[in-house]
Amino acid sequence: MSRPRARLLSIGDELVNGRTVDTNATHLARCLTDAGFLVVGIAAVGDGHGALATALTAAADDADLVVCTGGLGPTDDDRTRAALAEVVGVSLVEDAGAWKAIRRRWALLRPGQEPSPSNRRQALVPTGAEVLANDRGTAPGLLVRRAQTWIACLPGVPHEMIAMAERLIRILPRRFPGLVVPRVAELYLAGVGESLVQEHLYGQFDGEDPQVGITVSESGHLVLRVVGAPAAVRARLAILRRKVRPWLLPAPGLAASIIPTLAARSLTITTAESCTVGLVAAALGSVPGASAVLHEALVAYAPEAKRRRLGVAQAAVQEVVSQACVEAMARGARRRTGADVAVATTGLAGPGGGSPDLPVGTVWVAVADIHGVQSRSVRIDGSRARVQSRAVTEALLITWERLAASRTARGGIIAGKAVNDVPR
Ligand code: AMP
Ligand code: MG
Repeated sequence: MSRPRARLLSIGDELVNGRTVDTNATHLARCLTDAGFLVVGIAAVGDGHGALATALTAAADDADLVVCTGGLGPTDDDRTRAALAEVVGVSLVEDAGAWKAIRRRWALLRPGQEPSPSNRRQALVPTGAEVLANDRGTAPGLLVRRAQTWIACLPGVPHEMIAMAERLIRILPRRFPGLVVPRVAELYLAGVGESLVQEHLYGQFDGEDPQVGITVSESGHLVLRVVGAPAAVRARLAILRRKVRPWLLPAPGLAASIIPTLAARSLTITTAESCTVGLVAAALGSVPGASAVLHEALVAYAPEAKRRRLGVAQAAVQEVVSQACVEAMARGARRRTGADVAVATTGLAGPGGGSPDLPVGTVWVAVADIHGVQSRSVRIDGSRARVQSRAVTEALLITWERLAASRTARGGIIAGKAVNDVPR
């Protein structure tokens, strides 16, 4: 399967001076990939005419399709139309249909008012360009050919761009006969680092059909993405699955894997959270079907609350960020709620309060079930928010590992030999 090469060009000063995040390119890259294009590059350029024309030429020289967004507005800093005409080598002419559509939209939104001369500029198109109707705004999109390359320009406003991208995707197959909609498959892994996966998958990332890539998600799992012709993807998936079996998640993400796994085993879960103040419960609760397994969750922030609500012994709360405390929290949460599994967190989210013995970012997580409790500590760098969100990941990870370790143990919850495994 040979995929046409696409390049994206996001236009606007606000994109290159760090004021606006380029969400258009992300959206388009996903749509184009799913439609069968190989997106080989994404660039952003300011509104200056020279830089714009240079970037457009460079992109068009090295792609079968270029999709630009932005710079189609009515103001003087919207120069995409002019740059496009220059790069294609044609002049700008008014498109009667585009002008009519602009007037119609004005009549609809501002009855009794005439569009201004600057709005009329939005009806100017490079000679020979196809006008793409915009039913969410005044700026029409454009599709024009330069040598072997098709160049599409869409408005920058994301809400308008999204609707027009859909329309563009629908008409592109006519310009690219033989375009094959690829299969995009993803495998989700947890409990393994990127470099270890690389060692196990040596050679699997080569080639374009299928194209295999790996990314680390914010929520702690890895995504192996396979894109290509359906048969090639199927064959490669079989190989990849075999190689990464120990770390394979059944669903996209840790929480999304934990909930159905517990449900399938008719088990319930609860949380006893200190430094994550309910975020673990929130992560579990965000998964559809959580209500069947997550009946209640506890936040016990102060030492006194750990004693009163979880029954943690006075000796264990003396040192709240400790193995003894986190394990007592997990056991206490099981006992107090009757849940089959309990996951607990305690740590120092900072920014203050650290010491050489107990630095900021020290987090203990534990999971308890009928067979015992298992715990570990991690050191997390960064802001309070990052410590908390990584602590959630660690809590979910230890829970998942315990469930996965017992995947084959019938009826039981756990059969793993994890570090710090302490019988209850
Ligand atoms: P424009 O079509 O250039 O007038 O852009 C209109 C507005 O859309 C800008 O002021 C930005 O707020 C937004 N915008 C333009 N390009 C992008 C982009 N690539 N990603 C996200 N927002 C954008
Ligand atoms: Mg702009």
